[in-house]
Amino acid sequence: MHELSIALNLVEIVEEAARRAGAECVVAVHLRLGAMSGVVREALEFCFPLAAQDTLLADARLEIEMVPLVLACEPCGREVRPAKGSFRCPFCGTPSAQICQGRELEVSGIEVPDSEPTVEEAETSACSGSEMDDRPGTADGKRDVGR
Ligand SMILES: [Zn+2]
Repeated sequence: MHELSIALNLVEIVEEAARRAGAECVVAVHLRLGAMSGVVREALEFCFPLAAQDTLLADARLEIEMVPLVLACEPCGREVRPAKGSFRCPFCGTPSAQICQGRELEVSGIEVPDSEPTVEEAETSACSGSEMDDRPGTADGKRDVGR
């Protein structure tokens, strides 16, 4: 299952960050998930506790913040938010493959006991290897994260 490998990858990254911070467990993980990340939120929420078993994250909550799709529209010269399932500018109707936002799959914060609410240096992308793949032309938004 796609989301299980992502969850395992996520747990690994967060556990390493928590260890570096000297934490004995993780209370919560904050994740930014783009609308076009190719990850099904419900499936990830289902897989997370499985992946977290027997790790520092065993009792951690997974807090997912959804990031909407934002495209760059050349004729309008600005960033626009298309209708759901659409890649066209809502103002001029021009299709765009330049995704500005919406492909995120990144840890935005980690909560550990007796510390600051978030561990800032843990701002590690859960798919840092895939950021290279940020070319125009991959307009379908599908990515092989975590495989
Ligand atoms: Zn436009």
